[in-house]
Amino acid sequence: MSDEEAVKARSEFEKKVLDEAPRLTREDSFAFGCHPGVSCFGDCCGDVNIVLTPYDVLRLKNRLGLTSEEFLDQLTVLPFAKEQRLPAPLIRMGDNEQKSCPFLDLEKGGCQVYEDRPWACRMYPLGYAKAGEAEGREEEFWFLMEEDGCRGFAESTSRKVGEWISGQGIEEYDEWGEKYRQLAVDDYLTTEKELTPQQMQMFYMGTYELDTFRRFIFSSTFLERFEVSGDEQERLQSDDEALMEFGFRFLRFSLFGKPTMELKAETIKAEAINNDAVQEPAQ
Ligand code: SF4
Ligand code: SF4
Repeated sequence: MSDEEAVKARSEFEKKVLDEAPRLTREDSFAFGCHPGVSCFGDCCGDVNIVLTPYDVLRLKNRLGLTSEEFLDQLTVLPFAKEQRLPAPLIRMGDNEQKSCPFLDLEKGGCQVYEDRPWACRMYPLGYAKAGEAEGREEEFWFLMEEDGCRGFAESTSRKVGEWISGQGIEEYDEWGEKYRQLAVDDYLTTEKELTPQQMQMFYMGTYELDTFRRFIFSSTFLERFEVSGDEQERLQSDDEALMEFGFRFLRFSLFGKPTMELKAETIKAEAINNDAVQEPAQ
């Protein structure tokens, strides 16, 4: 199955689960256990599509001491399905028979990036959805995604959905996930146009390729064009989370035309002169 077909199959599976599975609240309980003692331990860490969010990439590349570009080049694939509006890298599974996740080492106890594992790995077996947002009667809920061969559902340990979310460290990921979701559902994207390939590249840089974005800020004319205080420049040099937040603001300005950045007075003046020159060509 190609990456595109796999993404489509996954989204059909999720839609089916979403339509048919009971909806859970934070107070509902479910029985599940996953530990090295289960016979299937590690089976779900192979031949699987783990979609990475920008925050997942930030955590993993820092964990591994790689730049975001090194991480994306070496450890992810970037499939493009027709229905996909925005880039969404997946962990590049190994080329062994099990197509194992590169972070899995069963001899060393399992996931080698456990403290920084992606949102999707933290959530399983829970899925999450929000409904009715457009109609103003938002409902968020969780549901169980029982994968074939997963023995975790035979374990008797029961816990509330809310306890699972806290225990897996999901809140921090959700906070960044929501910031990214707000960017991805900007009305420019939902009601206007698709991004051109160049805009898509810029979107990818401002969300996933943070080290390239940092170079773009500090090694181009960026700081001559935009107001960025000295304190903020210091933060952008050393703090990846501040850089990501800034990237989201920059994309709103540069791609969606929102007033989220301040141009320097000289830039505004130069652009006005250029516009006049375009509108009134010399006789
Ligand atoms: S298949 Fe289920 S029980 Fe087995 S390791 Fe994966 S999550 Fe745990
Ligand atoms: S990141 Fe860790 S938990 Fe997620 S698939 Fe890879 S090995 Fe499994």
